[in-house]
Amino acid sequence: MQTDISVRHLYKTYGDGFQALKDINLEIYRGEIFALLGPNGAGKTTLISIICGIVNLSDGEVEAAGYDIKRQYRQARQAIGLVPQELNTDSFETVWNAVSFSRGLFGKAPNPDHIEKVLKALSLWDKRNNRIMSLSGGMKRRVMIAKALSHEPQILFLDEPTAGVDVDLRRDMWEMVRQLRESGVTIILTTHYIEEAEEMADRIGVIRQGEIILVEEKDQLMSKLGKKELRLQLQ
Ligand code: ATP
Repeated sequence: MQTDISVRHLYKTYGDGFQALKDINLEIYRGEIFALLGPNGAGKTTLISIICGIVNLSDGEVEAAGYDIKRQYRQARQAIGLVPQELNTDSFETVWNAVSFSRGLFGKAPNPDHIEKVLKALSLWDKRNNRIMSLSGGMKRRVMIAKALSHEPQILFLDEPTAGVDVDLRRDMWEMVRQLRESGVTIILTTHYIEEAEEMADRIGVIRQGEIILVEEKDQLMSKLGKKELRLQLQ
């Protein structure tokens, strides 16, 4: 199995002395859907922000697609698409322009065929000339994913993709993520919903107070702990 993300002995201490991550070790394999499950404040966003090179690590090593995130940042970042928790979608721009521009930010040559493919896959094609700010919440989320896929990344991070969305949209998102995986993209999502991890993931990592306490195949984790025990772990 090819490894897409490798994290070894990772520590993060914020400027105020708070230790947000402690000795994280993690391998994520090509083509899998990996759910990082943990309660509020566990360190999920910190961990993926470090892997994406947005937040500096304090100690340890991180590789994405075989590139060291510190020494080979540009190459590593090219391999990664990130859909952040906070959606920045108050844009006057059209869907097409925003997604094309996003590709340019990664220094990639324009590729209208790829943009068309992404917009069609996310059911955004009919909205390509609409301004983002005029779209529904669900469509805006799709635009964020389209932007993250604009530069053809191998790895896609979704930080709490369904936090605060209604049940229908949540199901839509799950279906969309499954379709993306079919196209060969490695997907890492963070969530504090057990049901989401159970529904989506091949493997689940449980993070609590800055430590990964378990990494298991989904079925093994569920039969080992059961939902009740897992819920307790997430408190
Ligand atoms: P949530 O589910 O609420 O988004 P999370 O699991 O993503 O939580 P993080 O956002 O990574 O958790 O935060 C982990 C811990 O680090 C929290 O206690 C948070 O208060 C702290 N933290 C995050 N960013 C900073 C910062 N810039 N400076 C100091 N502490 C921080």
